[in-house]
Amino acid sequence: MIITIDGPASAGKGTLASTLAKIYNLAYFDTGMVYRAVGLDLRLKGQDVHDETLAEEAAKQLTFAKMTELSKNPEFRSSEGGVAASIVSAHPKVRAALLKVQQDFSKKPTFADGTPAAGAIYDGRDTGTVVCPEADIKFFITASSEVRAQRRFKELQEKGMDTPYEKVLADIIARDERDSSRSTAPLKPAEDAYILDTSSLSIDDVLKKACEIIENH
Ligand code: C5P
Repeated sequence: MIITIDGPASAGKGTLASTLAKIYNLAYFDTGMVYRAVGLDLRLKGQDVHDETLAEEAAKQLTFAKMTELSKNPEFRSSEGGVAASIVSAHPKVRAALLKVQQDFSKKPTFADGTPAAGAIYDGRDTGTVVCPEADIKFFITASSEVRAQRRFKELQEKGMDTPYEKVLADIIARDERDSSRSTAPLKPAEDAYILDTSSLSIDDVLKKACEIIENH
């Protein structure tokens, strides 16, 4: 069983995906990590994330072990980390280099400790359209940019990161624009995706709706 959950930044995909993975005992692949890892790798080397050749090189050398190591860096989940990920993810050669590692996971999904799983939940931007077009169930989770910026702002504050709300909102809008307008795999719902707008729904409401869809499937 493969389930994909796509949508813009801070729409609630991560919470939904990791909770569904626990409920249905499926492996969880947060595909934003591959782009964050490439962005951070370049930044740590002092390289320009706009340089497609350097970014492609970093993407080709990315392994799960390297990604896990980079994810421990506090910069990995920061706003700047998200912006860098979004810039490298707009390079078509980077997307091509990172496609196989994402698709291979669906053939042999594993839990974090390496034990095999009966299926996987993907979370990203193009997992239902490009990475796993044959997925059993596809969700597209969205919410207004203001609601998403508020959620992200709160999350950053809880982590002790002091980014002003206006900057968080501006980053979200810029990221949406880059993710939706890029030529390769732009952010859009798959034709057969269930669309859930979480602007005025609680986490529990979204989870309930998703579980109903999965169980009816
Ligand atoms: O989901 P997250 O915020 O970690 O993703 C970081 C960036 O990686 C996104 O803004 C997007 O540009 C890119 N991304 C992507 N395709 C995916 C997952 C993430 O382009 N499947």
